[in-house]
Amino acid sequence: MPKILITGGAGYIGSNTTQLLKRRGFDVVVVDDLSRGHKHNVENVPFHKITLSNTAALVDVLRSEACDAVIHFAAYIAVGESTQKPELYFTNNVGGTLSLLTAMVETGIKRLVFSSTAAVYGMPKTVPIPEDSAIAPLSPYGDSKVIVEKVLHWMDQFRDVRSIVLRYFNACGADPESTLGEEHDPETHLIPLLFRAIETGKAITIFGEDYPTPDGTCLRDYIHVVDLAEAHVLAVQKLLAGGSSDTFNVGTGEGHSVLEVVRSVEKVTGKKVPLAFGPRRDGDAPVLVANSDKLRKTLGWKPRYPELDDIVTTAWQFEKRHIAT
Ligand code: UDP
Repeated sequence: MPKILITGGAGYIGSNTTQLLKRRGFDVVVVDDLSRGHKHNVENVPFHKITLSNTAALVDVLRSEACDAVIHFAAYIAVGESTQKPELYFTNNVGGTLSLLTAMVETGIKRLVFSSTAAVYGMPKTVPIPEDSAIAPLSPYGDSKVIVEKVLHWMDQFRDVRSIVLRYFNACGADPESTLGEEHDPETHLIPLLFRAIETGKAITIFGEDYPTPDGTCLRDYIHVVDLAEAHVLAVQKLLAGGSSDTFNVGTGEGHSVLEVVRSVEKVTGKKVPLAFGPRRDGDAPVLVANSDKLRKTLGWKPRYPELDDIVTTAWQFEKRHIAT
């Protein structure tokens, strides 16, 4: 079976994808500097603690492990932090990717799946958003992904590096068959923060209730992490079969408001979420919902968890296990 190098495999989406690749029979090797990921997520996989800026170390791993392709997750992901420290985001997300690409060129490895984001679209004019919508990020985080997408375009043209760019919508949920789940530090994502509000009794602030949406709160496309992981497996298979470079949205195509997510969490947990309403958060688009037709038609992707309540149920199962340990 082909061997896949996974950067950022100790993180939330990276570790879930690593497990799915293993289940599908792929050989895997993870590279992560553990600055944001967790050691316990890589306990049962070959693992190298390497920072992406260390090109020579990446060359060593790619060569000694004889990798056939790379799935590149390793990046910082907090929109708010990126507005406070843009230089950190460009150094890590763009600089780290350039180092990785340099190592790939040096070792002749020419297939890459790249984690991009719906944040590249900014305030989209058409919703659900097709992949050919205007690119207009609202944050350094979003722009760090746009820059890498541009680099990948040129790497395809002049270095024959074939890449599949996956633009994620809102990753959430947990794999019921594994111990992996969402544990960012600090946590900024809605569903884990709703659980935290229930556990602590301290109100979660809803960022804005005056958006031009049916209930005034933002609409997002919540996609289960296992379905997101599946998109990576399909993408890397396509590249390994000689497929050309391409870009796909990964979302369900369904939008849910923040208050709908609150109601789903209350239904699943049987508990009331303490809420407070605050101002809008910088950089939040009113509506981000994917048109995922291209992913479905081209790669045959179909979500296993299209329903919000099912996604929240798996996230709550993880949360309960996590609190217990
Ligand atoms: N959100 C909120 N309060 C919070 C965290 C998030 O109202 O404490 C809202 C946020 O404004 C957005 C949605 O929940 O509309 C999802 O936010 P999250 O940070 O989970 O993901 P993002 O959409 O930024 O990728």
